[in-house]
Formats: sequence, C-alpha cells, structure tokens
Amino acid sequence: MVAIIGRPNVGKSSLFNRILSRRHAIVSEVSGTTRDRLIASASWNGRQFLLIDTGGLEDDPDGHIPQRVQQQADMAMGAADVIIFLTDAVQGLTATDQAVAQRLRRTDKPVMLAVNKVDNENRELAAAEFFQLGISETSFISAYHNYGVYDLLERMVDLLPTPEVFTPATELRLSIVGRTNVGKSLLTNAILGEERSIVSPEAGTTRDALDTPITYRDHTITLVDTAGIRRPGQVQRGIEKYSVLRAVNAVHRSDITLLITDATELATAQDAHIAGLAWDTNRGLIVVVNKWDLVNPNRFRTERSLHRVHQRLHFMPYVPVSFTSALTGEGINELLDTALSLWMERQRRVPFRDLQYLLADAVSTHAPPSRRGNLRNRLRVRRVRQVGVNPPTFVFSVNDPKLLHFSYERYLENQIRERFGFHRTHLRLVFRAER
Ligand code: GDP
Repeated sequence: MVAIIGRPNVGKSSLFNRILSRRHAIVSEVSGTTRDRLIASASWNGRQFLLIDTGGLEDDPDGHIPQRVQQQADMAMGAADVIIFLTDAVQGLTATDQAVAQRLRRTDKPVMLAVNKVDNENRELAAAEFFQLGISETSFISAYHNYGVYDLLERMVDLLPTPEVFTPATELRLSIVGRTNVGKSLLTNAILGEERSIVSPEAGTTRDALDTPITYRDHTITLVDTAGIRRPGQVQRGIEKYSVLRAVNAVHRSDITLLITDATELATAQDAHIAGLAWDTNRGLIVVVNKWDLVNPNRFRTERSLHRVHQRLHFMPYVPVSFTSALTGEGINELLDTALSLWMERQRRVPFRDLQYLLADAVSTHAPPSRRGNLRNRLRVRRVRQVGVNPPTFVFSVNDPKLLHFSYERYLENQIRERFGFHRTHLRLVFRAER
C-alpha cells in the first residue's frame, strides 16, 4: 500500500492520475468510485500495489490545513507500506511541510519526498531548499509534465516490502470492514464467542499477531486484523483516523470480506467504495446488514433491505446478503455458514470434459454474432479451461479476442454460473488468442 500525502493543491491527484495513466501501470479502477477516485490497484515492473490519495480520506475536510495534513500523515504511517510526501516547488518550503516532515520521522516506514511542479531548471535550483527536510529519498518531479515520475516509481517499488506468500485454500481468511458504529467490534466479539474454540497460535504456522483464528464446523477461519477493530467504548482517535486505509489493507489480506452495514442506514457511498475494492480485486464479498433487531419486523423488511443493497451496489449482482444482530446473536451462525459456502464455491473445480460439453452446447444454442454479417469476422471459441480458484478463473481460447462482444461474454459467464452452480462468487473470464 502506497499513500500520497501533502498539502492541498500540491498535485496529489495529478500524481495519482499520472501514475495510473502510464501504459501498463493501471490494473483496475475501483468500481463505483469514478467520481472521486482515491484508491486504485496498479502495478509497476511486475509489482502490484494499491495507490491511495489520502487527501480525500480526511475525517474533516473543512478543518484547518496543517491539521488535515498531519492527519493524512498519521493515516499513512498507520497503514501504508511506503509514503510519498508531496510538496510544491512553486510555493516553496512551508511551515506545514516542516511539521509533517517532523512527524514522519516517527515512522520506520520508507518515506519518499517528491517535490512537484519542478518544470524548469530555475525551479530545480529553488527546490534545493527541500533538502533541509533531511529526507534521504528526495526527488524532483512534475506530475503534470510527466517528468521524474518514472524514476520515482522505479525507486518506490524497490522500497515495497516483499509480498506475503499465501498458502492457498487451507484456511478461510475473513476480514470485517465497515464504517464507524455499524457494529464491527460487537460482531467480531459475537463471532469469537466462547463456543468457538480458538485455535492456539502455536498450532499453525507463524501468524500475524493482528489476526485471530477460530474453528467453526471443523474449518479454520482466520479473522484478519481483529486488532484494528476498536473495542466498544474505547474510542481511540488515532486508530479511527486511518480506519479506511486499515480496511483497505484488511480486504487485501483476506479471501472474503464481510462488509458490515447498519440496517438503519444502509449502503452509503463509503460502503460502496469498500465493496468496489473487494470486488475489483476479486475478493469474495458478503454484505452484512447488522442491527437487524432495530428494524421493525414486518413482511417486507427483508425484501426492502435487499432491494436497497442491490440498488447501491448494482455493479455486483451476485453478492450474498446476511442479516445479523450482533447484540442478540441472531444470524451469526448463518453468516458464518454463508461465508463457508461462498468459500467452497470459490474453491470449486469443474472437470475439463464438463466444460467442453458446456461450451459446445452454449455455442450451438447461441452462436457468436458476426460483425456486419461478415463470416470472417466471427468469433470462434475453441476451448475453455479452468486455470484457477478463489475466484474460479476460466480461460477461453478464441480466434481473436477483439471480436468478443461484452454481451457474449456475459452469456458465456451465465452459462457457467447456471450449469455449475456458481451463484454468489465473482468469476474471472479470460479470452486468449489461439490460432
Ligand atoms: P464499530 O465502530 O463498527 O466497531 O461499532 P461497535 O461494535 O462499537 O458498535 C457501535 C454501537 O452499536 C454500540 O453501541 C453497539 O452496542 C451497537 N450495536 C452494534 N451491533 C448492534 C446490533 O446488532 N443491534 C443493536 N441494537 N445495536 C448494535
């Protein structure tokens, strides 16, 4: 996770967009967030990272500027792996910059100072004053003119930590995310309830101290970053500030994310944001409608809530929705059952032969349309293989992927879903040319 911090107008979003717009750099754009894109998944030299513009994640966007920047620095120090501290050569070194640099000295995480708007030699000379900040990784860039950004990225990926190696498929890793006060800590405690024996940390391999493993129906389920969820009543401003980054991190370290929402205030924009992230990075997702005890029991309450969730999260029609009360314990077992069954669905392998039969049927029932009636421009789908699980990933060999129409891709996806019972997970379909 790479966070960009800095005063307003130093060019954080320009740098953010510049990095994402580089050829090959962009991997995916988080759904539902096109208006204010703050988090995106990208790669450089084969290293994947999440890039975050913290300017938009402040608790208090109307607050005092120095405070707001300090807040970004705190967020970044808490959750990011590399911090890019952006300043402005035109405005020169300000007191706020100095205060931020001071604060950043507290962290052992790599900090890169990027002095932006260095568009000519004069400015480069002027920018030399930034060396006073004593940050060894200092570079001069122009996000707008695309100067120095390449070198910055080169250096940045070297500073990224070595990626954790996940052993596939033996344990389900669950993250619990959501806005403040939706009931994350109460729900976590309800899940960790006494009847579910806690696997001793010695039993497994080295575990992250932040994570808590439990046993449920003979499966090991690891709750990711339980330490990040504050305990009820224990309001810690420091933690609260970077909760969004923390959530992003937790999503990345898990297989399935439980997005906790409040039944009395369903599916806000921030909920959609986190949901989009889980979805775009191919994580499993379950929307949990908590505080269900507060909703008047009537015939339509389930229907209404489902409608609202699907309306807000329209980009993921398959997402399972669970209803819980962390207070009374209602729905907790059902939630864990849903998580397990989604997990199994994501692990499912379809035999090669069954897939070829399906493909033959699908193509003969509904042949790929040809472009402008020209038969030479007709898509031909020759073979399909499942190459992975979690999420199930299928590779189609076709004559020319450019001939694939979105609606035909949907059609093939739906055939696979129906025939093999993939009703709740994300599927990845890849189309490759094969002559
Ligand atoms: P967090 O900020 O998401 O961790 O939320 P908390 O777990 O601290 O809960 C916030 C408040 O909502 C507390 O006062 C809880 O007692 C209350 N709460 C949490 N879950 C439920 C629930 O299912 N029903 C009701 N009625 N209250 C809940």
